[in-house]
Amino acid sequence: MKYDYLIVGAGLFGAVFAQEAAKKGRKCLVVERRDHIAGNIYCEEIHGIQVHRYGAHIFHTSDKKVWEYVNQFAEFNHYINSPIARYKDELYNLPFNMNTFSKMWGIATPREAQDIIAAQIADLHITEPANLEEQALSLVGRDVYEKLIKGYTEKQWGRDCKELPSFIIKRLPLRFTYDNNYFNDRFQGIPVEGYTRLVEKLLEGTPVRLNTDYLEHREELNALANKIIYTGMIDKFYDYSLGVLEYRSVRFETEELEMENFQGNAVVNYTEREVPYTRIIEHKHFTFGTQPTTIISREYSSEWKKGDEPYYPVNNEKNDSLYARYRALADREEKVIFGGRLGSYKYYDMDKVIAAALALCEKELNKG
Ligand code: FAD
Ligand code: UDP
Repeated sequence: MKYDYLIVGAGLFGAVFAQEAAKKGRKCLVVERRDHIAGNIYCEEIHGIQVHRYGAHIFHTSDKKVWEYVNQFAEFNHYINSPIARYKDELYNLPFNMNTFSKMWGIATPREAQDIIAAQIADLHITEPANLEEQALSLVGRDVYEKLIKGYTEKQWGRDCKELPSFIIKRLPLRFTYDNNYFNDRFQGIPVEGYTRLVEKLLEGTPVRLNTDYLEHREELNALANKIIYTGMIDKFYDYSLGVLEYRSVRFETEELEMENFQGNAVVNYTEREVPYTRIIEHKHFTFGTQPTTIISREYSSEWKKGDEPYYPVNNEKNDSLYARYRALADREEKVIFGGRLGSYKYYDMDKVIAAALALCEKELNKG
């Protein structure tokens, strides 16, 4: 055996594991199916602008240990995410806060906003929200639901709001203060030199084979290492033998524009059903860029099918119980450890992926 660990996937999970394993003197080899490292946080520099190739990524966490960890490998700027929601020609601040309510109803105080919401849902008598629609209505009332949530969510998930779990909407803060910060976390920012550089640093000293699909060369690669850290799709690892887990995919339409500033904000969500894309990202605003041109990406959400990039696990009951059956198989593997967003079929943000990778390192690398 040439290597202690074969790491499948050069994304954040694999890169953190590689970094920690190398520190402990373990020999690792990373194999990556794509032609670049960094997984979905990959950024490509175009005319001095860091373009987030697989969707906008904002680092945010309340976990001090994780924040200190990433700061060893990258310097973060002071970007605070404050998306704009556009419904027809009306513009609103996100997340749902007093700026949103004031614009929607021409009111000024939290009491006025709370009274309007209460009046809008009084006849619904929702005590335990059974789905996303009920959850959203009970939190923000009918106007905000109809204009800012319903269309966006149905585009994003390709499903009716009544068929989606309520927790999806609970990820967003709801505030009765004038505060447009999209996250409640204590720490937030974007790496000044981009996420690819961050992953490059994590992988320093570890060999990486790009354009190499583990599943296509399973036997010869298995023979190279004592153990495998697998961060690809768990159902694909088992050749979908128990069934296919559902994902949402995204198509990005990226365009360079001969102007300095297209939309004045990094993220603008298009919340009406009729606009086919969910949002437009203007990449330069993540790092306060002043370049003479700008690059934007329109995001079109779609149902994942074999061959597409899997982006969002669809964590409903059906998929979660199928995942549990795959997990039971995975737990019986002696040589393979599953991790990361695809290996765990979890809607993990970057900080959670780092925390999970560090927890695995703690368990795995301190063995004799
Ligand atoms: P990945 O980045 O998916 O890495 C897995 C790697 O394994 C990939 O490079 C893949 O090509 C490779 N691979 C898979 N199968 C094989 C195989 N058979 N052989 C070889 N290689 C293989 N998080 C935040 O904290 N903030 C955000 O703002 C945010 N925005 C997001 C926006 C979008 C559109 C998406 C999809 C995710 C977002 N996330 C965000 C989540 C973030 O992308 C993930 O937490 C993180 O990238 C997961 O890292 P990972 O290593 O688990 O997975
Ligand atoms: N959401 C919405 N309108 C918006 C933004 C978000 O209805 O303008 C809903 C949507 O259901 C989305 C969820 O809130 O899936 C969580 O939002 P987040 O920004 O975390 O979405 P992500 O892109 O991470 O799914």
